[in-house]
Amino acid sequence: MTKGKINVQTENIFPIIKKFLYSDHEIFLRELVSNATDATQKIKTLTTSGDFKGDAGDTTITISIDKEKKTLTISDRGIGMTAEEVEKYINQIAFSGAEEFVNKFKDQQPATLIGKFGLGFYSAFMVADKVEVITRSYKEENAENAVRWECDGSPDYQIETTSRAERGTDVILYINEDSAEFLETARIDTLLKKYCRFLPVEISFDGKIINITQPAWTKKPADLTDEDYKNFYKELYPFAEDPLFYIHLNVDYPFNLTGILYFPRLKKQPEVQKNKIQLYSRQVFVTDSVEGIVPEFLMLLHGVIDSPDIPLNVSRSYLQSDSNVKKISSHIMKKVADKLEDIFRENRKEFEEKWDDIGVFIKYGMMSEEKFMERASKFFLLKNTDDKYFTTDEYKELIRLNQEDKNKKLVYIYSSDKEEQHSFIASAKDKGYDVLVMDGAIDSHFVNFAEQKWENTQFVRVDAEIADKLIEKDEQRESKLSEEEKKTLQPVIEAQVAKEQFTVQFEALSEKEAPIVITRPEFMRRMKDMSAMGGGYSFMGTMPDHYNMVVNSNHELILRIVKETNTDKQQSLAKQAVDLALLSQNMLKGEELTAFIKRSLDLIQ
Ligand code: ADP
Repeated sequence: MTKGKINVQTENIFPIIKKFLYSDHEIFLRELVSNATDATQKIKTLTTSGDFKGDAGDTTITISIDKEKKTLTISDRGIGMTAEEVEKYINQIAFSGAEEFVNKFKDQQPATLIGKFGLGFYSAFMVADKVEVITRSYKEENAENAVRWECDGSPDYQIETTSRAERGTDVILYINEDSAEFLETARIDTLLKKYCRFLPVEISFDGKIINITQPAWTKKPADLTDEDYKNFYKELYPFAEDPLFYIHLNVDYPFNLTGILYFPRLKKQPEVQKNKIQLYSRQVFVTDSVEGIVPEFLMLLHGVIDSPDIPLNVSRSYLQSDSNVKKISSHIMKKVADKLEDIFRENRKEFEEKWDDIGVFIKYGMMSEEKFMERASKFFLLKNTDDKYFTTDEYKELIRLNQEDKNKKLVYIYSSDKEEQHSFIASAKDKGYDVLVMDGAIDSHFVNFAEQKWENTQFVRVDAEIADKLIEKDEQRESKLSEEEKKTLQPVIEAQVAKEQFTVQFEALSEKEAPIVITRPEFMRRMKDMSAMGGGYSFMGTMPDHYNMVVNSNHELILRIVKETNTDKQQSLAKQAVDLALLSQNMLKGEELTAFIKRSLDLIQ
């Protein structure tokens, strides 16, 4: 038996690993199983290359718990280690055996080797008082020439020869008191499913194989059917609805990246869906919180990204500044735009059917990434109240017909609620205007955004003005009421409503319009919306809502009210007209509503 001291730097490194390197101690299992996978991949490579003449045999990695001895063991049938290799690889922790191996065999299949793991093996000491390694190299014919190494976490270690029936390595962890959880079958099962579910070598625990060695993303798209993609999605998210479509990522240059991204059904509710993308490095799970790695709006997607260029054992802030990671994110964005454009070009109908779900995503993307906005202009769609879809170019054509004055801004009329704004929509359409539906959570922001980004564009909500005024026109209709009559009528109408809430004004509308229409100025409403979202406009929140009460100076009823000489009757007619306007806006409530119904019945009888 030999005793030794691991070189000096280690003395400082040990406590750091133990306390700070990994915030999550559970990661030790990922590291050790990855090492076992690595060693197994290596023996396979050596078999293929002919450097190893024997038979690789059953290479299943076995994880086992011994509750009595309080040990957790990871056993593999990989390449194993000779005494010198243990000395070199395990004791000289700064040295990366994997890196050396990859350099040697880089032309064969480096992509299947789990790369630099840094201090991977030593993470065992986060959960163990003592670690034992029993290993026999593939180079050793004799079972008696195996090596036993033991270390209690201090820089002192012991090494001796021992016997091991087969080629391979056992890493035995004597789990410390604080980490007793790792002796629970259920806990280990959960961890293996989290980190090792898609590792390329079979892993057995508690009598079962726990992983899928060839997950869909590692296969060629040509070898997969739509069904396969769906099944893989179900594998990842057992409770989710079927996805809308998928993108299979496969990049070799300038970096390595594979993966499958899915478009989930968003249903106008983007918030709940975030952080569903899982990040892998050569089939080893890294993280499922991709914030900062993937652009914010792409976080709405689901699926898997796998890249050996994503460093494993580093902090989030490092990941975010890593140039590879940045390239990855802009590449994914490009691929997503490509796919959307493809579907739009090849099957516009399908694209339109899915718009309610993907529209949220696309708008979010356009607002957050300039580059995506440029790409999206080709497939961004506007939907009108008749459920027809238009690209922006198509829509501009359409509304220009009604807005001939080229010097003025092009006005997009929209509705945020088809039901509530029904009468406004009907009256606008009656006049030949088209009305868009912008009723998603993101749309009020998008309207502001589009006005800034699109040239000469103005959005007006359909209830912001009476239809004729939505688009400013120069010609004026003749008013049947004289200025004198308006002056008498004004206080009569005003007496029916709270003065601070309504501004009464006269408009010469068509006699077919309602006698009184209530509108809410676009500017006012937007300020209110913004204050609801916080920020610098919060003072607006305390202001009462303000509306315009537009009296139609050409309506029969209004003319009648003016001419009415009985003041009581005049008051009651005015009240009735005002209430009708409020009613059509769903603004007549409680006592007022009851009084209105009673008054109406009296009038009919
Ligand atoms: P890294 O994996 O980054 O090289 P580790 O500290 O995890 O760092 O492992 C150090 C080295 O020890 C490995 O590169 C490998 O050569 C060797 N090693 C670790 N575990 C095993 C194992 N199960 N079988 C064979 N060699 C191993």
